[in-house]
Amino acid sequence: MSHSFQKADTLIRRSYQDHCTSRSCPECTSHHLIPSQRQAGIFPGDQPGSFLAPLPFRGDFLLKVDFHVHTNLSLDGVNRPREMVKYAKIAGLDAIAITDHNHLFPWREALRLSREFGIIVIPGIEGGHIALEKHWIGLGIRNNPVWATISETIRRIQKESGIAVAPHPYTRLGYENYEKVGFRVVESLNGTEPGASKRVPHIDGISEVAGSDAHTARMLGFCWTVVDACDSMEDILDAVLKGLCKPMGVRIPVSRCLHHYGAYVTHRVIGGPLCLLKPALRARDQANGDEGG
Ligand SMILES: [Zn+2]
Ligand SMILES: [Zn+2]
Repeated sequence: MSHSFQKADTLIRRSYQDHCTSRSCPECTSHHLIPSQRQAGIFPGDQPGSFLAPLPFRGDFLLKVDFHVHTNLSLDGVNRPREMVKYAKIAGLDAIAITDHNHLFPWREALRLSREFGIIVIPGIEGGHIALEKHWIGLGIRNNPVWATISETIRRIQKESGIAVAPHPYTRLGYENYEKVGFRVVESLNGTEPGASKRVPHIDGISEVAGSDAHTARMLGFCWTVVDACDSMEDILDAVLKGLCKPMGVRIPVSRCLHHYGAYVTHRVIGGPLCLLKPALRARDQANGDEGG
């Protein structure tokens, strides 16, 4: 691990601790489960999903992490990164990975948002052509790892102490044999994908996580990964590789997924060009007003 990576990671840890220093703090106690809840794998107030087997246990913290979030840096995303992080905090998540299509989220911006909102923002990327290729996710990396083959891309991610996740394995975008390709983590619960109650084939010895694949803020908070980790990105990624994690929650309701299309049209299709026109329209109105006055 590079020195700069360690430095950045320490800053993320510190920024989190600034907001979450005490285990008796009422804002933080919801992160820490009573033993019976731990055994059942249930968070207070959570709806039981299809992933209720006991969690392998190690330490004192269980974090709620969403490993697959899009912002308007994706062609099909709606909300700005700041809005997504803000809403993730409101939704009770402890960490999110920002994984825009073919766009590696800047490390510096992740740090800034971590500090501002007191949740860990993991820089990531979702690679592969949106419609034509199988996708992959790289987390906790500083350089775009794209390479000719998926195995080499994964190797590059791992070389940077990041982790490669195989997203939405149930669609035609899934891989045939995850182990063979080199994945050590598969997203066996994707918030937008049907069929997530079935077991993904060929994932023995591979860690399973959940990611919302949220493209708007309102799609956050329905599913997450419980990770038995402390309070840093490095610890979260390490725990996932050790299998100290479990997908939890449910698929995003269809109405929220459909809302994405409406929001996309409003924000990106209509909102975009009209936003550009607004100053010109204002100037015209002012000119007309001046004439009228
Ligand atoms: Zn995808
Ligand atoms: Zn995605």
